[in-house]
Amino acid sequence: MDAVVELDRVTVTYGGHVALRGVSSQFPPGAVGLLGPNGAGKSTMIKSLLGFIKPTDGRLRVFGLDVAASPLEIRARIGYMPENDGHVPGMSAVSFVAYCGELCGLPVDDATRRAHEVLHYVGLGEARYRHVETYSTGMRQRIKLAQALVHDPDLLFLDEPTNGMDPRGRDEMLDLVRDLARHKGVNVIVSSHLLPDVEYTCDHVIVLDKGRIAAAGTIDELKGPPGRVFEVRVKGDVAAFVARLTAAAIECHDTDDDVLRVFVPGDPPGPGAEQQRICRIAREAGVQVRHLRPSLPTLEDVFARAIGER
Ligand code: ADP
Repeated sequence: MDAVVELDRVTVTYGGHVALRGVSSQFPPGAVGLLGPNGAGKSTMIKSLLGFIKPTDGRLRVFGLDVAASPLEIRARIGYMPENDGHVPGMSAVSFVAYCGELCGLPVDDATRRAHEVLHYVGLGEARYRHVETYSTGMRQRIKLAQALVHDPDLLFLDEPTNGMDPRGRDEMLDLVRDLARHKGVNVIVSSHLLPDVEYTCDHVIVLDKGRIAAAGTIDELKGPPGRVFEVRVKGDVAAFVARLTAAAIECHDTDDDVLRVFVPGDPPGPGAEQQRICRIAREAGVQVRHLRPSLPTLEDVFARAIGER
């Protein structure tokens, strides 16, 4: 399968600050999650792919076209839903989206027809004659998706698409993203700090950290086989326990709930053997095991491991 997006040793600097450090990566067709902590370089990557930022070094390709050589041709095939609002006050949703269509090169009549279509598609059909500044946050997210879709792009960049949405609106937005990727043949790149959103919409993720690729692959591959992750809660010197696990090449990291997620590498030697090993290490560290349970690997684990969180 041909990659939709390719980066070949891309470096981007702002003044003396390096935001992307020789990044090489390929985004396959379908829906890809772009993950990373704040400042990892996600927006810089998206802006470079759109041709808004010129890399100091390296090459970027979208649909096989060089971004430096064909920026307009590429932009005509990309829809971009930015994180921040960019509405024009005093315009109705339908005139705003039609205007965005014209800016993408659509003739007026086509732009207007498409504006009605996409506003219906994103669930704003009834509100389409209202001024955008009267919209709720959730509605503003939807209109941003509508303007990104107006010219029928082959690739969509969605930056934090569910920001500020209530749970129902968020579910509806995620269903739209899934529908676009799975049934409408649109390639989608979702940048989000909400890992469940990415897990619901994407098959593949690319994790950036400090301007480098920290992990890339299908979510299933990166999670690894089930049965190798354990939830552990101990009483006593947790740091000593973690140090012993680490010395035994067993990775672990904290969760918000005071539970350690412990990853045992290699093939299981036999039923219960890993639990026994964890209990033995706890005894050696002088801590009491209060809770020990096998768990399923999650995208949170993939993310935490990729960026080396403990
Ligand atoms: P992310 O989208 O993952 O939060 P960004 O791409 O926005 O990360 O930023 C990557 C790094 O580049 C950060 O350290 C950020 O502070 C820096 N950066 C981003 N934009 C600029 C800018 N316009 N000028 C200087 N530094 C910037």
